Amino acid sequence: VSAASAVLVIAAADSSGGAGLTRDAQTLGELHVALCCAVTAVTVQTDTELRATHQVPAQVVRAQIRAALDSGQIGAIKIGMLGTAATVRAVAESLPPRERLPIVLDPVLRASSGGTLLERDAVALLRELLLPRVSLVTPNIVEAAALLGDEATRDSMIGEASLRSQLQRLLALGAAAVLIKGGHRGEGEEVIDTLLAHGGPPVRIAVPRVCGTRRGTGCSLSSVIAARLAAGDSLIDACTVAQRYVAEALRAEATGAERPSLR
Ligand code: PLP
Repeated sequence: VSAASAVLVIAAADSSGGAGLTRDAQTLGELHVALCCAVTAVTVQTDTELRATHQVPAQVVRAQIRAALDSGQIGAIKIGMLGTAATVRAVAESLPPRERLPIVLDPVLRASSGGTLLERDAVALLRELLLPRVSLVTPNIVEAAALLGDEATRDSMIGEASLRSQLQRLLALGAAAVLIKGGHRGEGEEVIDTLLAHGGPPVRIAVPRVCGTRRGTGCSLSSVIAARLAAGDSLIDACTVAQRYVAEALRAEATGAERPSLR
């Protein structure tokens, strides 16, 4: 294990434990990966309702990021819920160059209960300031459409051509790579995530679909990707391991089996 194998998680606490920093800490704990954190907000949630959000002042977020980077332990950064435009700006201005540390952005916009996790006026700023600084952005199809200003489609059966167009347009916004998650796409037998990086063709990453629900799957996925990038995996390997982790976690939740571990 290299000295710089910890993940800096920039995200919000979810009091219900189902998502956010709470889920990230659980996930990284299962992988035996250390984390530092920069808490962006404290949320009050149940599994079905976002009751309140209390934003941490942007200068405190900045100071947490600086302290974590000063530790010399950080091997990758994962960004989750940011909440406001001020926090988006603070984070964008605090990040090291992505050539130095892999940076994974889960563009969290809403809770599955429907509550808003990124204020409307902050979405444009996230697109302009943050996307050009990250190694990978991991939207689901709803988030991809929102980031691109595309018509929010209720049709989860997004076609292959529109998917490719979205990947290319997100890449053009400045992320070094884009992973559009397929969990919300239709009801096929497989979940297909699609990865596009500069200079390469789109890569399909597939896993058998598990019928089950679990909160915070996007949080877990991006945390595992960051942990694997910190350990030196390629982007494709990191995304593949993370997809498998989430599928196993869903299966464990559905069957009440042991929590998954990474092998
Ligand atoms: N709450 C927080 C603090 C989050 O960061 C996220 C997602 O990243 C969510 C809720 C959304 O999770 P879910 O879709 O399970 O509600």
